[in-house]
Amino acid sequence: LGIDSNESKTPRDKLIGGLLTADFDEGSCSSRYQKTSLYRKPSPYIPSEYLVSKLRKYEILHKRCGPGTEAYKEATEHFVRDENYVGECRYIVWIARDGLGNQLLTLTSTFLYALLTKRIILVDQRKDISDLLCEPFPGTSWLLPLDFPNMKQIDRYNKEYPRCYGKMLRNQAINSTSIPPHLYLHNTHDGRDQDKMFFCQTDQSLIDKVPWLVIKANLYFVPSLWFNPTFHSELVKLFPQKDTVFHHLVRYLFHPTNQVWGLVTRYYHAHLSRADETLGIQIRVFRKDGEYFQHVMDQIVGCTQREKLLPELATQEESKINISTSPKLKAVLVTSLYPEYSDNLKNMFWERPSPTGEIIEVFQPSGERVQQTNKKLHDQKALAEIYLLSLTDNIVTSARSTFGYVSYSLGGLKPWLLYEPKGLTTPDPMCVRSKSMEPCYHSPPSHGCEADWRKNSEKILPFVRHCEDMIYAGLKLF
Ligand code: GDP
Repeated sequence: LGIDSNESKTPRDKLIGGLLTADFDEGSCSSRYQKTSLYRKPSPYIPSEYLVSKLRKYEILHKRCGPGTEAYKEATEHFVRDENYVGECRYIVWIARDGLGNQLLTLTSTFLYALLTKRIILVDQRKDISDLLCEPFPGTSWLLPLDFPNMKQIDRYNKEYPRCYGKMLRNQAINSTSIPPHLYLHNTHDGRDQDKMFFCQTDQSLIDKVPWLVIKANLYFVPSLWFNPTFHSELVKLFPQKDTVFHHLVRYLFHPTNQVWGLVTRYYHAHLSRADETLGIQIRVFRKDGEYFQHVMDQIVGCTQREKLLPELATQEESKINISTSPKLKAVLVTSLYPEYSDNLKNMFWERPSPTGEIIEVFQPSGERVQQTNKKLHDQKALAEIYLLSLTDNIVTSARSTFGYVSYSLGGLKPWLLYEPKGLTTPDPMCVRSKSMEPCYHSPPSHGCEADWRKNSEKILPFVRHCEDMIYAGLKLF
């Protein structure tokens, strides 16, 4: 959807149009209010007043029900005794799994579900989440206390767990007269349709009565929430521009810790802030049999040159431009587990001129080679790179990578998506400009809720369609 209708008239306001509360002390988490001043252009996407007021109400509820309160204590005691009860506070516990991009997508999806269902989100902190992100809600905590009972059992929850909602539904083990005190929601790529459709109206009429939900997910399930007509009318008010859901929520929820923010700002000022233009290229190779592939290198160069993101190369003789004393500088930020792609790009633009005389400078912050999720500094660098990518003017990302999804959506950028190569050949076409800045929901449910039971999930709403990078399976908001 177009951005022009909502063009920002206000200067960079540090509360991002009211998205952020002013109730935090600035020093504890520098990124919270400093972020907008790093962006050279403020985001043209303005949060709706309805979203802003809903977030303020959520913050009040979280403070009333969060860890340390009487309500939390009482709810936890009921959880331990496995007793149902009706209290004002209901919870959803998010358990971390998979890479950082996946985690940020599912955390955001879970938060939106909590917002829609007036639940409190609590975040499993045993991995390194508190080394990565500051608290988002004032005067309380979103971290599930470390002494939360039964964590060992919770770790073993899977789709065969007897209180797994999809399994109970399948075995007809749940109805309005047998509401359990807690339920497990399994929302991963191997989930059944019964697992993925917990948000439909009939399911919600049961689930709403359950005080504790535990969710393990690795999918961005926001697009399917619109299939529930009650949620749909609420979501339209919250997000009149439908492809801004993740962009707004991610800027509201995620504030890198001072450590991560240091990595972002030092790198930004060393390499990006003085450039006339910046380009981000995120390279993710989903192959186990190697790291550097010539067909991927050819794809990166081919796509960026064809789309005029990078210039063609000239010979010295062909370059008619006199060497200017202040040539235009384009900084190219490459992120990848492997350093070879950016090394090659760097050499290309050093060895030969561009016909326009423009100077191309290529950087890559890290080249970790192997994914090391849950290793503190590794994850901090990954988060810093996601933020750095989001600060670029244009962005190219790899198909199917959630790391890339978070970067472009955070930056409010419609990316060029590099198609996933089949075998060892460069795809044709090499890339596509996405029409939306939303992440893609990989392996969504196959059909809609109640009235749309017989409809393919891609045919239900005109703005929930297949993703450009997963044309047969994924769903995305446009
Ligand atoms: P996805 O697998 O591409 O969907 O993204 P995830 O973020 O879920 O998992 C990939 C993980 O590998 C990241 O979280 C990082 O730990 C690591 N990784 C992959 N690409 C990069 C990169 O470009 N930079 C850094 N620093 N880490 C990366």
